[in-house]
Amino acid sequence: MATAQRSTTERAVTERVVIENCAIATVDAQDTEYACGHLVLAGHRIESLGAGRAPEGLENVVRRIDATGHLATPGLVNTHHHFYQWLTRGLATDHNLFDWLVALYPTWARIDEPMVDAAARGSLAMMARGGVTTAADHHYVFPRGTGDLSGTLVRAARDLGVRFTLARGSMDLGEKDGGLPPDFAVETLEGALAATEDTVRRHHDTSFGAMTQVAVAPCSPFSVSTELMRRSAESARELGVRLHTHGSETVEEEKFCHEQFGMGPTDYFESTGWLGEDVWMAHCVHMNDSDIAAFARTGTGVAHCPSSNARLAAGIARVPDLLAAGVPVGLGVDGTASNEAGELHTELRNALLVGRLGPHRETALTARQALRLGTYGGARVLGRTAEIGSLEPGKLADLVLWRMDTLAHSSIADPVAALVLGAAAPVTASFVNGRQIVEDGRLRTADEDEIARSTRAQARRLARITDRA
Ligand SMILES: [Zn+2]
Repeated sequence: MATAQRSTTERAVTERVVIENCAIATVDAQDTEYACGHLVLAGHRIESLGAGRAPEGLENVVRRIDATGHLATPGLVNTHHHFYQWLTRGLATDHNLFDWLVALYPTWARIDEPMVDAAARGSLAMMARGGVTTAADHHYVFPRGTGDLSGTLVRAARDLGVRFTLARGSMDLGEKDGGLPPDFAVETLEGALAATEDTVRRHHDTSFGAMTQVAVAPCSPFSVSTELMRRSAESARELGVRLHTHGSETVEEEKFCHEQFGMGPTDYFESTGWLGEDVWMAHCVHMNDSDIAAFARTGTGVAHCPSSNARLAAGIARVPDLLAAGVPVGLGVDGTASNEAGELHTELRNALLVGRLGPHRETALTARQALRLGTYGGARVLGRTAEIGSLEPGKLADLVLWRMDTLAHSSIADPVAALVLGAAAPVTASFVNGRQIVEDGRLRTADEDEIARSTRAQARRLARITDRA
């Protein structure tokens, strides 16, 4: 029996998938690219890759993919999102961040388990069919008595086959304490800390190739008490997990920090233990030179969300300056209440375009830097560069085959320029851990039409509960 089990495992590990005849952008340290190359996947890892055809004589090849006309890249890594917002897209469309939050908090405070389940599947499905293989979700709304929302999120990601970081959020600063969320939408300080620790213990996997990890993620300086910020950081470090929050998103937040704490957001974060190489922060739009130097000195990472920043009129993050200083930067969709498209591959283009509207103009971001932000940069801020983020032997088989031979892209000679600057490229295949989760732009792991129906039904339910319908 033991022998039979072992041989089954060995066979699974050495089963090979060969991909040939595609352009490859590895996004390794040298930005190695092949105009026409091959990849060999063995089990859940990349075994080899290079120019030309795959080596002859490989054993246990169970599948050969002729990827002529395609570009292979690492899977995209989403570093900031709020899946639950899938049910509140297209609302408060002409507001800045604070007004938008005040308009939407009362609705968000009514979410329950079936809503979060549907919203997570919608968010994950939309990203996966656009080449996302790893996604982080910052979930910070836990209304009392709504069941196991963390478990619901983890299960949805597992079902769809997307590698997942659950940033377990929290809010304890309601309106009566000078915060922005309504009082009924916040947790108690002790309750939030205990529930977050419980989530880490139940779901955080430290093994190589983990499909689920957890980060400690109080929401923002204007919805979380200083005590919860400080104790969350201590707790995360005791538990050995990463820390995530929103930071320096708008001028209003900057003003709030100066009024409440007598200092700007970055100094406030530093004073509460929130700068460090185990921290990544969403947005970081309003940063002065000394803020950027503090991030660089401490290795604090950034989740850049260009579409959301534009949608909420937050401003243009100084990404070229952050990169020049050596700050780790990844890309984020952000919640779909402020980025209705919910896709990450279009954020490659938006990061480049928005960057060039800033002070550095045409040198702001190259197409290759944009691709790096969406892949290796994301892996870096999630602390997973040993496993994902670039196509290299030994790393996990998380990769995308983008179709480049259709009307949209075929006349562009440079496939990376086509991917970043062109229309959203079709995904022929997307692999996570060696498992194909997308085929010809459709999910293989779930029924998209069923997800569309259930998200619509749950969005309508939420609207009815909150008297918007
Ligand atoms: Zn956000």
